[in-house]
Amino acid sequence: MKGLRRILLSISLIILVVLGAGCGPGALFAPKPYKETQFLMDTIIDITAYGQGNEAAVKTAFDEFKRINELTNRFDENSQVSKINQAAGKDKVQVDPDVIAMLKLARSRSEQLDGALDITVGALTELWGVGHKGEFVPSQAEIKAALPLVDYRLLEIDDKANTVFLPKTGMSIDLGAVAKSYANRKAIDALKAKGIKSALVNAGGEVRVIGTRPDGQPWRVGVQDPRNTEGLAAKISLSDWDSLETSGDYQRFFIKDNVRYAHIIDPRTGVQPREVVSVTIVSKSDNYADVLSTAMFVLGVERGQELLKQYPGTEAVFITNDGKKVVTPGLAGKIEF
Ligand code: ADP
Ligand code: MG
Repeated sequence: MKGLRRILLSISLIILVVLGAGCGPGALFAPKPYKETQFLMDTIIDITAYGQGNEAAVKTAFDEFKRINELTNRFDENSQVSKINQAAGKDKVQVDPDVIAMLKLARSRSEQLDGALDITVGALTELWGVGHKGEFVPSQAEIKAALPLVDYRLLEIDDKANTVFLPKTGMSIDLGAVAKSYANRKAIDALKAKGIKSALVNAGGEVRVIGTRPDGQPWRVGVQDPRNTEGLAAKISLSDWDSLETSGDYQRFFIKDNVRYAHIIDPRTGVQPREVVSVTIVSKSDNYADVLSTAMFVLGVERGQELLKQYPGTEAVFITNDGKKVVTPGLAGKIEF
């Protein structure tokens, strides 16, 4: 009896695997994934990879997340970003070329996107402290005092000497909107360098894939319903894209007097933008249209869509405060609600 049950159990397991892998040719020989989850960069990072050497490859991918986190974590006083912030108004600081690359990427986004993304937003994100200070809402005077300390145009980057200087005391860099994306790109590079042809990396809604699923089907990624943590607002098939990022007001926030205060701040006003509650961007890694979702969240549907045209092949889903879903044309047929 026990033997029979074991046989039945193993049959049902096989059926599950076959279904999960799809029914295409070779499904019965579907390769085994190696999957690992770690909590890093203040978020859950899942890496799944298929193919020979997948376990070792996943380890090197995690090493990239660790390395970029150590460089950029502003809550670690020894990180290079903290060193730059501690020297604000005093000295330039020499940093790793990866930090220079992140700062330059962020600065070009600021220029392209009306300053809606600005990594010198540190004075404001520290003042608000969403996720760190309880239900703290700063006064208008405090916000006004912080605003002059936020301006990407003041950032001095020397990419020959690899030095960075913040000219005003109190200025500070916050790479919260950039580092996960940058690290994820590095993690994907590390997987590819190890010969991986099929993988998915999800760093808290910052998703990148290599190739297709092992059964040849495109990877499909769910977009969380911003007002129901258990539900999905949409499913996107990554047939034409290998990168997906979401910025929303539902992961890090507090509600006080019926008002939601989330972690994304408009660097120009010092307060939370509220037209949009979630923005998802899909793009192709080769186009290098990384780090757009935070700015799109700040810009809102109309200006966001207008400025997104600078990045051909990159598409967006905006979910607005009143529940509307606005999808750019290139996503038609690739998204399901
Ligand atoms: P997530 O952290 O959920 O991936 P984002 O990628 O949109 O979300 O990054 C939000 C983080 O970026 C905030 O937690 C804060 O550290 C920082 N930030 C907030 N507002 C801005 C802004 N306007 N420009 C640049 N960085 C920002
Ligand atoms: Mg992000």
